Amino acid sequence: MIWEAIIDFIFPKTCVGCGSWGSFLCRECEDRLDFVEQICPMCGEESPMGWTHPKCKTRWGMDGLIAIYEYREPIARAVVDGVKYGFSRELMGIVMNNFTFETGCNFDYLVPVPLHFYRENWRGFNQAEDLAKIVGEKLSVSSVKILKRVRNTKQQALMKTREERQKNIENAFIVDRRFQMSDIRGKMILLVDDVFTSGADMRECTKTLKKSGAGVVWGLALTH
Ligand SMILES: [Zn+2]
Ligand SMILES: [Zn+2]
Repeated sequence: MIWEAIIDFIFPKTCVGCGSWGSFLCRECEDRLDFVEQICPMCGEESPMGWTHPKCKTRWGMDGLIAIYEYREPIARAVVDGVKYGFSRELMGIVMNNFTFETGCNFDYLVPVPLHFYRENWRGFNQAEDLAKIVGEKLSVSSVKILKRVRNTKQQALMKTREERQKNIENAFIVDRRFQMSDIRGKMILLVDDVFTSGADMRECTKTLKKSGAGVVWGLALTH
């Protein structure tokens, strides 16, 4: 694509971690990055394989979360930024090469978390959509834009407490009119976003999908 050629010209391939030439993530930085301990997406405490704790299960809640890196890790943050600036295909290829996960689910769809305008990046694309496509190729599952954002919520970073964040995002998503209840009923869905942070977006997306009949909803994020 012409865009890729222009990007390569303006931004020659340098490692997002250390700046060395040749690759968006060099071997040394990749080796220095540890895969993260998985957490329960409902309470944020550790949980094996990212399964939601039995005590945290709710009717409209997430069933699990797969995170690859820890957001506190500077190289991981550089990877997230790299993805935001549009290097996702190659970076994600490197990241996903060594990363394996086991959810016990055969996902029917991958669904990118719709972007809020303030997170839209300078190329005007949603990095979550890009990631969903790449992960979808790895899992042989198609990425489908089932959800739409309908309400302009305030920037989540400005919200201080977990409750405020959850409140701020309430009813922010709807199922796109192109989809029927029958497309969603009983389906296993993997939501994809670049970061999980407070998890409020993913939990709200899950609620929307489950209210439309989705059977199982997991999340996948580059970092938590
Ligand atoms: Zn490096
Ligand atoms: Zn929990």
